[in-house]
Amino acid sequence: MENYFRIIPKVDKLLEDERLAFLSKNYSRTNMLSAINEVTNEIRELIKEYNLSEDRELEKKLQARFQTLKEDIEEKFFKILSPNFKKVINATGTILHTNLGRAPLGKDILKKLSDKLAGYTNLEYDLKSGKRGERYDAFSSLICKITGAEAALAVNNNAAAVMLILNTLAKDKEVVVSRGELVEIGGKFRVPDVLRASGAKLVEVGTTNKTHLRDYKEALSEETAAILKVHTSNYDIIGFTENVETKEIKENLKETLLIEDLGSGVLIDLSKYGLKHEPTVQESIKNGVDVVCFSGDKLLGGPQAGIIIGKKEYIDKIKKNQLTRAFRIDKFTSATLELILLEYLKEDKLLENIPVLKMITRSYEDVKIATKKFVNKLRRSDKISESFKIEEIDTDAQIGGGSLPSELIRSRGVLLSRKNMSVNTLEEKLRQLEIPIVARIVDNKLLLDFRTIFNEEIAYIISSLEDLA
Ligand SMILES: *Cc1c(COP(=O)(O)O)cnc(C)c1O
Repeated sequence: MENYFRIIPKVDKLLEDERLAFLSKNYSRTNMLSAINEVTNEIRELIKEYNLSEDRELEKKLQARFQTLKEDIEEKFFKILSPNFKKVINATGTILHTNLGRAPLGKDILKKLSDKLAGYTNLEYDLKSGKRGERYDAFSSLICKITGAEAALAVNNNAAAVMLILNTLAKDKEVVVSRGELVEIGGKFRVPDVLRASGAKLVEVGTTNKTHLRDYKEALSEETAAILKVHTSNYDIIGFTENVETKEIKENLKETLLIEDLGSGVLIDLSKYGLKHEPTVQESIKNGVDVVCFSGDKLLGGPQAGIIIGKKEYIDKIKKNQLTRAFRIDKFTSATLELILLEYLKEDKLLENIPVLKMITRSYEDVKIATKKFVNKLRRSDKISESFKIEEIDTDAQIGGGSLPSELIRSRGVLLSRKNMSVNTLEEKLRQLEIPIVARIVDNKLLLDFRTIFNEEIAYIISSLEDLA
């Protein structure tokens, strides 16, 4: 075995190779050493698998490895340099795909951002007075204008927002929540657990399917800090149900602090576009909710954030909490939120400029035309039409991200299968591309749903399929 180890070329020897030396000198010596290490370690592991001093099979394998040694090192070298965080093409038809980064921001917003963020910014600097400002100033007046709230701030995400609100306004006191609203959102966000972690005490009222106003009333005591309403954004309770609206709670229990976790944070009325009505942030404020929180990267279509709005006296208290410092947003989020909210003021362009809203409201006919064009292009390629079976079909796209769970959006897509290749292999090959294409498998075929594919991505998909043909 020792003998085999000895025939692995030493680093110095390998660096005598012209190509490897060039890469090491002109890009990064550290990386070259890592690449050499990784490849030679693989060979060491291979030798260790054979516990003998001599073996024909091992020798054959080693010979093969040595033959491609330099190419393998070069490949590793570039792999280390290429980012793991990639642009991907979302062909799943799920618009707010949590694993694919939820709301896409769109190129226009990013262009504006890159100009602003390359250098210094006035993140916490009041240009009028020349004194320290607040990092929420950029967007807080906008969100107040849009929603009718008195004050606003934003933290890292909505989970942090809920935690912070409860910790500030209900620590060591009781918070009343309906049993129908003790939800779990993906990624371990569970209302009872977050509540406990914030230091508040949970008082459950009502039942899973029915909670009445009198249930809330009976639960109130000296110890009550607030009633918390949670939008059951990722499931529906249907059938024999009853739920008390925030408006009714506020009208009847004026003295009690009312907090609402809206989850998705939609600012427009989706029922205008044929979807189910999702409670808007504006309605929450209008109903008299004292503090409302929601995500920035769900139906709002912006950056990851937890936006907290409501009555000024409570928002001011929250801003003073030490935890706010721990959860605070950075300049990227602050700038992006402002840019996204500015789009909401240009009402006629709104749907065009916020990708999430554009994809949700895009007509079925429009998706169908895009799909048809794509299929025509595929059929015109001899290579593709020879090796792929192509079918156009109706699909059900969905909003995802725990929003409007029972709402399917009529959509259109393409089913692909390749001769002599399993659908799993095809799916994997598309996933391994330089720009990965993430698709679904349906009926043992690959489905590309066109609702979530951007027009400028189509050429890349076609040329990738050509390579696979
Ligand atoms: C999504 C969601 C959350 C968590 O929001 P994040 O921004 O992902 O932290 C909390 N509450 C509700 C009701 C939600 O829908």
